[in-house]
Amino acid sequence: MRVLVTGGGGYIGCHTVRALQNAGHHPIVLDNLVHGHRDLVEQVLQVPLVVVQLGDRQQLQAILAQQHVEAVLHFAAYTTVGESVMDPASYYRNNLGDTMVLLEAVVREAQRRHRPPMPLVFSSTCATYGHPERMPISEDCPQQPISPYGRSKWMVEMLIRDWATAYGLPAVILRYFNAAGADPTGDLGEDHTPETHLIPRVLHTIGGKCPGPLTIYGDDYPTPDGTCLRDYIHVTDLAHAHVLGLEALCRQTPGQRQDALTYNLGTGRGHSVREVIAAAEAVTGCSLPVSVAPRRPGDPPVLVAATDKATRELGWAARYSQLTTMVRHAWAWHQHRHGCQVA
Ligand code: UDP
Repeated sequence: MRVLVTGGGGYIGCHTVRALQNAGHHPIVLDNLVHGHRDLVEQVLQVPLVVVQLGDRQQLQAILAQQHVEAVLHFAAYTTVGESVMDPASYYRNNLGDTMVLLEAVVREAQRRHRPPMPLVFSSTCATYGHPERMPISEDCPQQPISPYGRSKWMVEMLIRDWATAYGLPAVILRYFNAAGADPTGDLGEDHTPETHLIPRVLHTIGGKCPGPLTIYGDDYPTPDGTCLRDYIHVTDLAHAHVLGLEALCRQTPGQRQDALTYNLGTGRGHSVREVIAAAEAVTGCSLPVSVAPRRPGDPPVLVAATDKATRELGWAARYSQLTTMVRHAWAWHQHRHGCQVA
């Protein structure tokens, strides 16, 4: 299939482009390159790249028609919680407003073709749950997001469900837990500026790209070692779930209206900040100086997914998501990308 991948120059997007290629599909990347990487799309993945803002209605409409797009995987978004608190307008404009333009364009293109709307897979997040009432978190857990970022993703979920009901949009919503690791070949990976996530920060500090010590945000949580537990999921496993989600939509009867299919993507297992640091020390053979700072506002102590729905309905299974494997792949990527060596 010809699949438009919005945000395909970003971390999860570019790994999913590779998963689509491996499954025999033809991805076309749309990215504004604010955070996406041209070199990964054009040189590493070697797929067509259209540099445009998703909210550019005319250009988007033209791309859907001229490129004969048959499905959309929608990743394009701003994703930093702290930044969303400081600048909510950008987050709602980019994540919510531009997605509405996309959804309208998909329906308009369907009308032009006299066909049902093309399938869409949306990149959502466990941040839509906020401080969850139950652990592990199942898909029917109440969603009470606590940041503009989480709320923007939650609102898009609502739009998609309304589009599914009203216009017959076939849709899958995937709620990621903590994406981690890098492609096993080492030529794709995470490269954010600024970097806020734990695993790359740990590796940048070990590799000398960031000055140490590594700050642990809080060691007085009600967890076994006092640091937060997160459900880390390998980005290649996440990418594979998108292909399975798309295939599930293609199996639906065209024109049959059905609510969006919604899945958590995690492993069901939490790792603490200190466990992540220990894994990085073991992989790199280097000890990491740390300091403890107060808790980061908004960080729940534990976030762990219930994952049986994705396993049961999509046939998805995490293959690379052992902590050591994720850190090993991330380290190989950071060495490749930044020339990181042990300091
Ligand atoms: N964290 C930390 N030091 C850092 C970055 C993150 O202690 O330099 C902690 C953070 O407070 C959270 C966990 O590591 O408990 C994972 O944070 P990350 O930003 O990677 O993902 P999040 O769960 O916030 O999406």
